[in-house]
Amino acid sequence: MELRRYLHVGPYDGDNPIRLGVFAGIHGDEPAGSYAVRRFIHLLEDYPEVARGYCLFFYPVVNPTGFARGTRKSWRGRDLNREFWRGSAEPEVKLLEQELREQAFHGIISLHSDDTSDGLYGFVAGATLTEHLLRPALEAASAVLPRNERPHIDGFPARAGILHRGYEGVLGAPPTQRPRPFELVFETPQAAPQFLQEQALLIALAAILREYRKLLGYAPNL
Ligand SMILES: [Zn+2]
Repeated sequence: MELRRYLHVGPYDGDNPIRLGVFAGIHGDEPAGSYAVRRFIHLLEDYPEVARGYCLFFYPVVNPTGFARGTRKSWRGRDLNREFWRGSAEPEVKLLEQELREQAFHGIISLHSDDTSDGLYGFVAGATLTEHLLRPALEAASAVLPRNERPHIDGFPARAGILHRGYEGVLGAPPTQRPRPFELVFETPQAAPQFLQEQALLIALAAILREYRKLLGYAPNL
């Protein structure tokens, strides 16, 4: 099992770069996130300041067999995004858990598309500041695609496209990691043109980097 990882080190901004993990394609039939990651890496070559102070770890296709087949599940018929930190035997999950333990990211961003949603939304978990990252990301990306304003999304209560509860076993930080990193899931409406979904994700990623840098500036010990 091979897990592709691209490392991008932004311009120097102090001795402790912020380490973020950006994960896409854990559901193999949601390709917008994978292509958006590829475009974002190219974009950083032209706009390096976007990543100032960051060490970005990109994992564009974390379910390679599902991606190749265009299926949500892996070739072994598992929804990998329900398997984390539960003693999973799936090789992809074991590799990713090892990576999540070793890197101890300051923040984790997962990209998804939802075929039941007509707008953008996201889940927040981990550090309490996470909502302050997702909100501006949704606002910025809503220039491209509408936000899902429904009171319930995917069976969970929602407000302005923000959900605080989600499924068990989703890709996230090791349960014992302290301090808690921010953990954010960004969802695009899968029925929208893929180009627009990718565009929305590029805008959202740039907004998250900008806002997190700003938040750390306000509270350096966070
Ligand atoms: Zn998904």
